[in-house]
Amino acid sequence: MTSTAAIVSSGAGRRPPALSDMNRPSLIGMTRAELGEALAEAGVPAKQIGMRVAQLWHWIYVRGAGDFDQMSNVSKDLRQILCERYSLALPQIVSEQVSVDGTRKWLLRFPAEGAGRPVEIETVYIPETGRGTLCVSSQVGCTLACTFCHTGTQRLVRNLTTGEIVGQILLARQQLGDFPDAQTPTGAIVPGTGRLVSNIVMMGMGEPLFNFDNVKQGLLIASDGEGISLSKRRITLSTSGVVPMIERSGKEIGCMLAISLHGVRDDLRDELVPINKKWPIAELLAACRAYPGLSNAKRITFEYVMLRGVNDSLAEARELVRLLKGIPAKINLIPFNPWPGSPYACSDWQTIERFAEVVNRAGYASPIRTPRGRDIFAACGQLKSASERLGKSERGQAEAFPAKTTAPL
Ligand code: SAH
Ligand code: SF4
Repeated sequence: MTSTAAIVSSGAGRRPPALSDMNRPSLIGMTRAELGEALAEAGVPAKQIGMRVAQLWHWIYVRGAGDFDQMSNVSKDLRQILCERYSLALPQIVSEQVSVDGTRKWLLRFPAEGAGRPVEIETVYIPETGRGTLCVSSQVGCTLACTFCHTGTQRLVRNLTTGEIVGQILLARQQLGDFPDAQTPTGAIVPGTGRLVSNIVMMGMGEPLFNFDNVKQGLLIASDGEGISLSKRRITLSTSGVVPMIERSGKEIGCMLAISLHGVRDDLRDELVPINKKWPIAELLAACRAYPGLSNAKRITFEYVMLRGVNDSLAEARELVRLLKGIPAKINLIPFNPWPGSPYACSDWQTIERFAEVVNRAGYASPIRTPRGRDIFAACGQLKSASERLGKSERGQAEAFPAKTTAPL
């Protein structure tokens, strides 16, 4: 971290959930049907359930209520019952860091699931002039081990639940003052107009298509017109290439798709993105060609990390363009973001520009992605938390030990 970046808070933000919060299921992330069941269990008469679900949905997702007492059109008695049984707790903030370029990174902690330990993940906010993008995590760690990715060095601990995925969005909106009547922190860099969190990319920790059900439900909540209400055009799911889930992702979620391609030959991609051994380039591109809803207005983004001397020759640029012929596509060249011990270097700028020129000449505009938040280690592929997967013997003892505390960077 450079001296100009700031740790805004460490262990601050929302109070950590009280013990009783952990025993109360969270309403965040439930579908309307699940909310209805929760209300029925709380004794709400059947004929009132539809109306009460709509009220809760509005308070949670439009107004950002963190407390049942804010729900002024819900009777005091019902608020009391709901409060005794359910929680609206957001993730606990372990630390928040702000880059010189305004990028924010939160290290967030979630309670243990079952016999596990509490887990930590990172969520990143990237403000630009006309939009604010939230980079959301889908898993703690990753089962895949792409050789250029810091998350890939951390084994999978567990999938995040729907509530934990949606919780990242609500927390960012709360911290940035993106709810009605909320305050944006003084001096925060945010877009000049429009919503502060206007776009979501599933490009944080983990492979979203290996946690399909929770990611799907989370993104359907994010795009629900009576709640968070983000257009599906402003939500992008990035995958390393889980081919069998690509079609379902288009049909059942309907958001934008990004593919982490990074190599144009199977021998190299097998090494960089090992899932390629299971689903090689030709199968991946066939699934892309068949992506539901694909058109020139709804293109697939192909991500290509620029690794010095590895995948950055002009011959590879030409091959990239050739491979994508006929697919409505955008190409995103990502300068490699280094991390401690990473085995690669970023291509030099001239090489990236020459590569981009080939891509540009083929009709793809502005393909180079500016690295953001490198000084706070928040750029693409730099995320990693200290959560560890438990061995069998540890699992039995997990509840007996306090959670491991993770120091911010
Ligand atoms: N698991 C998903 C989404 C998370 S990674 C996926 O792999 O697509 C988000 C993007 O960052 C992916 O394109 C990934 O390949 C890229 N990335 C990973 N490590 C990187 C690094 N060190 N520098 C630049 N980009 C990186
Ligand atoms: Fe996992 Fe994506 Fe990183 Fe590969 S690039 S290790 S799939 S998070």
